[in-house]
This record gives sequence, structure tokens and C-alpha cells, in this order.
Amino acid sequence: MSDSPADLLITGCTVLVHEEKERIAFREDAAIVVRDRVIASVTTAAAAEDMAALERIDARGQVALPGLVNCHTHAPMAALRGLAEDLPTEEWFNDVVWPVESNLTEKDVALGARLACAEMIRGGVTCFADHYFHMDVVAGVVTECGMRAHLGEAYFSSQGPQGRERSLEFALGHRGAADGRITTALAPHAPYTVTDADLTATAELARAHGLPVHLHAAENRAQTDTSLARHGITPVEVLDRTGLLDTDLLIAHGTGIIERDLPLLERTGGRTAVATAPRGYLKFAWPDTTPVRSLRAVGIPVGLATDGAASNNSLDVWESMALTALIQKSTEGDPRWLTSRQALHHATLQSARAVGLGESVGSLAPGRRADIILVDLTGPHTQPVHDLAATLVHSARSADVRTTIVDGRVLMRDRELLTLDVPAVVRELDQRLAALADRSHGRRIQEYDT
Ligand SMILES: [Zn+2]
Repeated sequence: MSDSPADLLITGCTVLVHEEKERIAFREDAAIVVRDRVIASVTTAAAAEDMAALERIDARGQVALPGLVNCHTHAPMAALRGLAEDLPTEEWFNDVVWPVESNLTEKDVALGARLACAEMIRGGVTCFADHYFHMDVVAGVVTECGMRAHLGEAYFSSQGPQGRERSLEFALGHRGAADGRITTALAPHAPYTVTDADLTATAELARAHGLPVHLHAAENRAQTDTSLARHGITPVEVLDRTGLLDTDLLIAHGTGIIERDLPLLERTGGRTAVATAPRGYLKFAWPDTTPVRSLRAVGIPVGLATDGAASNNSLDVWESMALTALIQKSTEGDPRWLTSRQALHHATLQSARAVGLGESVGSLAPGRRADIILVDLTGPHTQPVHDLAATLVHSARSADVRTTIVDGRVLMRDRELLTLDVPAVVRELDQRLAALADRSHGRRIQEYDT
């Protein structure tokens, strides 16, 4: 160990670690040493007592977890939170969201993304996979606020070949930006809005440039049924036919994945991952949820997500974790399925894998990037602790996150945001809401027809 002071020393906490076979375990009275933005060691509090450090956090009574990853969102849509309520999917898209998105300016995207990042940092999210327009603006917000992000410029075939070209240009131009905190993906919207020819071209570009792909597919059962009726194949079979299952692929939702899709997904050997955002499925009254158990049985990582705040109303990944555990028990009719430890595995390593960061984040271990959250369990709703995993998943809330650290930098300390000014963002956003919500122009950016 170096004699020079550590950059950051977190002492006295309990640390969530992954043991053999990735079993979730907890190390009590521990310390985390951070040097050069990386976890140098997870040691005992006693061993760290006399260690020199430039910055120290006394974390007694708190649990250190890997920062949460929001595996699928549309951060700027925080500006549309609450605008399209209590509607079926089709009306949500066609009557409100896609008309309103034709008003969207770069300024709206910047303000929405800032608000989203503030909310996510407050909720212990250290990394998010974003899929939206004006992604260079989102990249700028990520750079300024200190988060980690996996970004993709979304496109529809209705935009012509320029959409796909912009997506590629963004992915090549921004990968590795923000000191390596930004990774990028190609981001076709979905098989129902992007033609097979464009999906095939996207898969070729992904392979040629070593880029992953992030898209919506088999979002719900109706999309799968429509695909079967129109083309005779499921959305996952479309991904296979167009070569996308030969890329590093992140599928958002997948609640319409059916039995016959599973062998195709299994063949990807874990290169395909699925992001689940269960709150929106409940709100849209979709009949299914992501088939987590079947996907796990064929080796597919399932990461946690929130989708955008226009459908989910929050970017609370902690809530997605608790809801996933509950909904899985309910849909499988099995209280033994999706234990708290399994939920924590989804929230940590599986979510990191889903966004292509399985080797660098998702676990508090030497050599991993220092993306760490500290959770306060001293509140009455989290005491006493008989089973720490259950306390975390079913009793704790995102508001119990006291401190959020990304790449060794403290972004929130004792609930105070250090890199974003929420009142200033809200003031500016408020002045723009009327223009943003205006639908009198009668335009929409795309048609939902499935
Ligand atoms: Zn989405």
C-alpha cells in the first residue's frame, strides 16, 4: 500500500460485498479506501484508523452499497412529469408525449436532465442509461454534475437516414467523455418505429465500431401480438433477424417476451440484457411484467430502471428494486422467488452488466470505480435489523441515502447536493412549461401504431 494519503476514506460502515459465486454478503465495521477514483481496498475500520486521507467520511450507522444504476431512462422527460396521466399507452404517446416533444428545445432538455440528475443523485443513483434527443446536451449535464452515464441518441426511421447517422456520430464523438464517465450506445427507438433495414444497418454499425445498442423491444404483450399478426414473428425474432442479437444489446422492458424468444436470448450468452421498470407497467395496466425468472434461467442479466418520469413519475431506482421483488413474487405465485439478496444482485452486478459496465462498477471491490452510496439505517422504519438485505430492499427508501459518490467524488453529502442547484433549475423550467405543454400546433414527432 502506498504511503501517500488516500483521496477518500469512508470508515465505520457496513459494506455490501459480493463473495464467491457473487453471493451478497455484508462486512461490518469496515472501511473503504479510495485512491485515483478507484476503490483501493475494503478493509476493517481498525486497519483504517491511523490511515492518512485527504477527505474522510465517518459512516457509522450507515451501509455502503455500490451506487444504483438506472438501466433505462429518458432523463430530460423529467420536464414532462405529470403531463400525461391515467392514459393507455397509445393515447399517452399520440395525444400528449409525441406532440409535446415536437416543442422540445435544447434548453428544455438541459433543464429536464439537470432536474433528473439531481433526483437520481438524491436517490443513490450513480449511473444512468439515457435514450433521448439532444443527447449532446445531456452529455454536457453529466459532465457538469459528476454522474456516470451510458448515453444514446434516439432515432426513428421516420427521420430518414439522418437519424441513424446522428446516433452514430453522437456515440463515436462522446464515448469516453467526462474523464471516462460517459459510455455510449446506438439508440434506435424500437422495432415498431425503426424498419428492419435500419435495424440491420444499426447492427452492422455496432459491430464495425464496437458499440453497444440500446432500444425498446417487446415492451408489452400487445406489441408482440401485433408483430406476430403483421410479420409472423415476435419483436425478439426481429432483433435476431436483423443481427441485433449479435451485438451487446440492452432491451428496455421486454414484458412481451414470450416462451419462443428464450432460446434466441439464451444463445447470446449474456450479451443481451433487459432493463425492467415495473412502476410504468402497473400504471399503463399492462397485463405482464418483465419475465425475470425465465430470463435468469437462460442467463440474461436483468437490470433495474425507471423509464422516463413522464410515465414513471419518479426516477427512484430504489423503488424499482422493491417493486421488482414484490411483483415477481406476485406474478410467479411464489414468495420464495426474488429474495432480497436476489433483488440486491439485480441492483448491483446485473444492472452494471446491463449497461456494459460489469467489470468496472456494480461491486465494492478493489480495482472498481469508486461509485458508492451510504445509506442511513438509524430511522424507526429501518430498525431493528434482523436481516440486513430485507431491511435494505423492503424497509429502506431512497431518501435514506445520505451520501452519493461517483468516481471518488462526493456529489451529495448528508443529503446536500454539491453539484446541482435545484431551485435555480425549477425557477427556469417553470417559465417554460406553458410553451412546452402547448399542443395547439397539431404536430407530433412520430405515430404510435401497434
Ligand atoms: Zn423508454
